Amino acid sequence: MKYIDQIDMKGKRVFLRVDFNVPMDKEGNVTGDKRVRASIPTINYALDKGAKLIIASHLGRPKGKRVAEMSLKPVVKVLSGLLQKDVTFLDDCVGPAVEQAVGKMKEGEIILLENLRFQPGEDKNDAEFAKQLAALCDIYIDDAFAVSHRAAASNSAITEFVPVCAAGFLLKNEVEYFKKAMVNPAKPLAAIIGGAKVSDKIGLLENLIEKVDKIIIGGGMAFTFLRAAGYETGKSLCEEDMLDTARRIVDKAKQKNVQFLLPVDAVVAQAATAEAEAKVCGVKEIPKEWIGLDIGPATIALFSDALKGVKTVIWNGPMGMFELASFSKGTFELAGAVANCGALSIIGGGDTDTAIKKAGLSSKMSYISTGGGAFLEWLEGKTLPGIAALEK
Ligand code: AMP
Repeated sequence: MKYIDQIDMKGKRVFLRVDFNVPMDKEGNVTGDKRVRASIPTINYALDKGAKLIIASHLGRPKGKRVAEMSLKPVVKVLSGLLQKDVTFLDDCVGPAVEQAVGKMKEGEIILLENLRFQPGEDKNDAEFAKQLAALCDIYIDDAFAVSHRAAASNSAITEFVPVCAAGFLLKNEVEYFKKAMVNPAKPLAAIIGGAKVSDKIGLLENLIEKVDKIIIGGGMAFTFLRAAGYETGKSLCEEDMLDTARRIVDKAKQKNVQFLLPVDAVVAQAATAEAEAKVCGVKEIPKEWIGLDIGPATIALFSDALKGVKTVIWNGPMGMFELASFSKGTFELAGAVANCGALSIIGGGDTDTAIKKAGLSSKMSYISTGGGAFLEWLEGKTLPGIAALEK
């Protein structure tokens, strides 16, 4: 794969695919600029190198139609504020008016195109639409890791029609950290997997077992594993139809000599609410009407201890219902243990990111992936079409 710092962009029309899928309120104000900030290094680099920069993104799921609330226009103010530069907005992403505006661009100028998904060809990875996008540029740069797991015209088919294609710095980071975690990891390698459901993480667990030395399981999904091991887990989350799968995963871990750690105690309550009385009990003693909503102190110690000496940690999914203060300690303390264990730490998945931010530890992690679904599919061992297109 080529990277942006390996190509000459001077005076060239550069089409930059980003993920500006920002949150907005009902009045159309952008309420979070994290995704825009994430591509600023790539944008500034391209501008410094004399590119004529055409930026394109999706926003929401308009399904091939114009939806006023999903216009990218409000992002202009955010982008222009962050760059301290003018940004021209075009109310379409292809067509004669767009071609004309691009044709008049000078070095260092920026155009933001309208939502790619207003065009039906985008989600269909349509070659004709991709050709229209390709006609706008000499160079294609992809910086939208979060959509790499879906083939769209702007991240897949377009690469067939643009002579020079490369990854931006955001995507480069994702690729390099992924390799450090899954391709050539410093060992021992541990995976911490939490979140609600085993069913969402089977592919991930199956693939990780082939690569890691330790798997640490927390969150709601731990109770399905505990039930599969024969414990009563009260009213904790349990996917009855996953019990055999859970046993199979544990057996496979044994065969592969992978240490498989489950909680030994839990914070339980009679309701998953902020007001509910919470107490700690061993996982063999969860009362019938109670729900396990976080890992307990003995488990925090067990898991933290397991991280000592580990060289690489991959983490997806919180250890408990961290959104409520009474059930957040397990996730927050484990985040502290990951931050301080000296290992390269690679975090991914929307909730894990949010939890670590809430714990105030984001800056202590080696890398936090920008792709929820894309990161998960990558850990599952799947080929990501957006990445594969650049590798061709
Ligand atoms: P996921 O998207 O699968 O990573 O799941 C994240 C969600 O799992 C978060 O919203 C947590 O509140 C929830 N969660 C974590 N632990 C538990 C638990 N013990 N019981 C119920 N929900 C949980």
